Amino acid sequence: MTKQNVLISAEKNVSSSTLALTTIMSKSSSSTSSSKPPAPQTSSSINLAITRKSLLKQLEIESGSRINAWVETMKASSPTHIKSPDAFSPTEEHRSWMVHHPSALNMFEQIIQASQGKKIVVFLDYDGTLSPIVADPDRAYMSKQMRAAVRDVAKFFPTAIISGRCRDQVYSFVKLAGLYYAGSHGMDIRGPTKGAKCKKRSDQGVLFQAASEFLPMIDEVNKALIEETKSIDGAKVENNKFCVSVHYRNVDEKQWSLIAETVTSILKEYPQLKLTHGRKVLEIRPTIKWDKGKALEFLLESLGFGNTNDVLPLYIGDDRTDEDAFKVLREREQGFGILVSKCPKETSASYSLQEPAEVMDFLHRLVDWKKLSNLTRRCK
Ligand SMILES: [Mg+2]
Repeated sequence: MTKQNVLISAEKNVSSSTLALTTIMSKSSSSTSSSKPPAPQTSSSINLAITRKSLLKQLEIESGSRINAWVETMKASSPTHIKSPDAFSPTEEHRSWMVHHPSALNMFEQIIQASQGKKIVVFLDYDGTLSPIVADPDRAYMSKQMRAAVRDVAKFFPTAIISGRCRDQVYSFVKLAGLYYAGSHGMDIRGPTKGAKCKKRSDQGVLFQAASEFLPMIDEVNKALIEETKSIDGAKVENNKFCVSVHYRNVDEKQWSLIAETVTSILKEYPQLKLTHGRKVLEIRPTIKWDKGKALEFLLESLGFGNTNDVLPLYIGDDRTDEDAFKVLREREQGFGILVSKCPKETSASYSLQEPAEVMDFLHRLVDWKKLSNLTRRCK
């Protein structure tokens, strides 16, 4: 057994290589100890023992650090996780962060100035943007007032909801027919339907489905995750059609490493899928290059704004996955990304709003401004 072949198998699968290594080592030791008395320990046998020990240690460290990395990421993406008081002064950090990402409400006039001669298009995330983050993701309802605000915005501006949830589920929360819906992080896009009373939505009107061939695999992973996490109190697995979400917001923090271990262990069997994280949720998605940023570009193209400067996209979201869309806006030098967050976060967004209530204020202001500007134009 050489150091090289141990490391190759370790890269493939740390736990199985640890087992293989242990088996080979026990076979090796039993063959030398059969009927003969134990050989005296020479310097080479001592060196070999030390090498084996250090290899085992290394494998343990690699496996542990990978899980630890995920647990740290899970903590970092959980806004309610309390940082140690010595980590930083929140007030000072927040003040400095707000200089770079001022409130979109305070910057409203500048946003309107930038929209002169352009068509505003509104993109909205759902969870944590239009609805509060709640313990049970199945009950993440938006308020009637928020629904009315989104309905009004959609009367004046093309409006799209881009969510990690499956398209049908986000529609069942929003219940507005006049919008574009991009579910599963934009992998499943559908245009507006006529008739606000529309209840049952068929797949007619689907504009784009990026990953149809992954559906059976996603379904398989969903079943495996449900089975493997059923003993973890508070864990919730959700099949979002093109993505499986494992919610851990109700799981005791001491169990987070078990969640990370379970998810990564199942994922090893599916190299075509990848793991990403959102707010207290781990998400398994196809490795194809498709995200909320691509969905935003696709929708702009579909609306006829693919290669034009006559558009001002506004994208409001609270999640790490929304960063892909913020980056696209930065790269296109078009419009503004608006991050919904009460605490400082690394972001490519230009502006910020603290919570869904501020998002609603911002949407009201957009509608009021548009109504006033239409009225002024008519009076001229
Ligand atoms: Mg969100």
